[in-house]
Formats: sequence, structure tokens, C-alpha cells
Amino acid sequence: MVHIQHVDKWYGNNQVLHDIDLAVEEGETVCLVGPSGSGKSTLLRCVNHLEEIGAGSVWVDGELVGYRLRNGRLHELREADACRKRVEVGMVFQHFNLFPHMTVLENVSFAPITVKNENKAEAREYARSLLERVGLAGREGAYPSQLSGGQQQRVAIARALAMRPKVMLFDEPTSALDPELVGEVLAVMKDLALTGGVTMLVVTHEMGFAREVGDRVVFMDAGRIVEQGPPAQVLGDPQHERTKAFLSAVL
Ligand code: ATP
Ligand code: MG
Repeated sequence: MVHIQHVDKWYGNNQVLHDIDLAVEEGETVCLVGPSGSGKSTLLRCVNHLEEIGAGSVWVDGELVGYRLRNGRLHELREADACRKRVEVGMVFQHFNLFPHMTVLENVSFAPITVKNENKAEAREYARSLLERVGLAGREGAYPSQLSGGQQQRVAIARALAMRPKVMLFDEPTSALDPELVGEVLAVMKDLALTGGVTMLVVTHEMGFAREVGDRVVFMDAGRIVEQGPPAQVLGDPQHERTKAFLSAVL
């Protein structure tokens, strides 16, 4: 579903991604772990076309979303194409950024109605079913400020799902939450991964989640993929010194 091939990325003279190769197959959950500054967020942003890449290519469902070198020149997607691709990728951030002046139901149904021109009644009906799915049935009329952080993040997940994305990207979705609210968000993500068949690429420091829900764990350091494999292997029997050092610091 997502194919990242030989991707390099620079900020000025600073190369932050080095020859990244990563595939996420349909229905798979891949957890991306690694120290601060290793390039995890940058890589997600490349998949969502929020960043240009210096070399390589990024594909979602067989279509190019990234930039690539062709005949030595950067080949760019037109902005309209980039936007069309972007709606096929759902993204959930650490800070949920809900629209404060809209109700929960409006937050979830807004983009399908305005960006995808979906029928209003149908979009609202689908939004209701997603809110039920994330455990928020009955809170449709609340405003974000009336919800806990965990509830707001679950609305943000429903909002991303409402666009019927082909893949969901999560960037540390629980890092900004109080510890007692982390579990409810992870439970929703687990449900999506295990029973919803949603294709997910998840940056997380929650090693329990990675171990239990991840089909694969990818460890990044200094802009490189150091090792990847089944969670039990990467987390339980890491091969590289850098992985071992990272895990002993976080576990
Ligand atoms: P964290 O765990 O702290 O979120 P990360 O693995 O997500 O870290 P990135 O945010 O992807 O790391 O950053 C990778 C590198 O790119 C870092 O060296 C960072 O300083 C640099 N970087 C990120 N965004 C920019 C930017 N907009 N301009 C310049 N450098 C940037
Ligand atoms: Mg980050």
C-alpha cells in the first residue's frame, strides 16, 4: 500500500533521511520507533506529501505521492495532484488540532462535505458510525473544549477516518496525553488495526503497543533504518548496538 524507495531528504546541508526503503502492505500495522531527531516525523510527512524529498520515490496504492529524480531532475507533482493524494492519507498528530468552534460531529463530517463534496446527510451518518467506533456515541454535539484529551484524540482519529483514507499515519498520538488517558486511545488504534483492517504507519514510544499490535517494528536512528522485523525480534532480540541502547533506555 505504501512504498518508500531509496528516499533521501535534506534540510539545507543537513541530510535527515538516508536511503530509506520501507513498505507497508495493505492491512498491515508498522510501528516506527527511534530516538528524538532520528527522522520519524519527517518520514511520515514525506508520505503525506507535506515534504519534498531529495531523491527516491514514495508511492501510495501504486500512485506516486512523493517527488523523485528523473533524468537527474526533480519531477514534481502538480499541487492539485498533491492535494488529491493527500486526502487519501489520514494523519493523526500528537496535538489533535480539532476545530474549536465546531461540534464533534461537525469536526468529523466537515472535510468529507467540503473537500469531497459528499452528501451532507450521508457524511453525517458515516461520522456518527465512526464516533461510535471510537467510543464517542452520544457526544456528537459536544465542543472540543468540553472533552478530555483522550476523547479529543479519538475525535481526531474519527475525523481522519472520515475521509476513507487508504492509509493512516499516526505521529506519537498519545505523547501529549495524561498517562491515564493513553490507554483509551491505544485501544481504539488496536481495534482499527486488528479488527478494522486499517493500514497503519505509527510512530510511537509505546513499546507495549508496538509489541502487541505491530506486524513489524522499524527502528530508525540518525535518518537511517537500522533494523526492522517482527516485534518480538526487534524488541526482544535486537541485533544492532544502537537498537539495544535505545531499547534499554525506553523499556
Ligand atoms: P522526535 O522523536 O523528537 O519527534 P523525529 O524522529 O520525529 O524526532 P524529525 O522531527 O523527523 O525527528 O527530525 C529529523 C531531523 O530533521 C532533526 O535533526 C531535525 O532537527 C531536522 N528537522 C526537522 N524538521 C525540520 C525543518 N523544518 N527544518 C530544518 N530541520 C528540520
Ligand atoms: Mg517526531
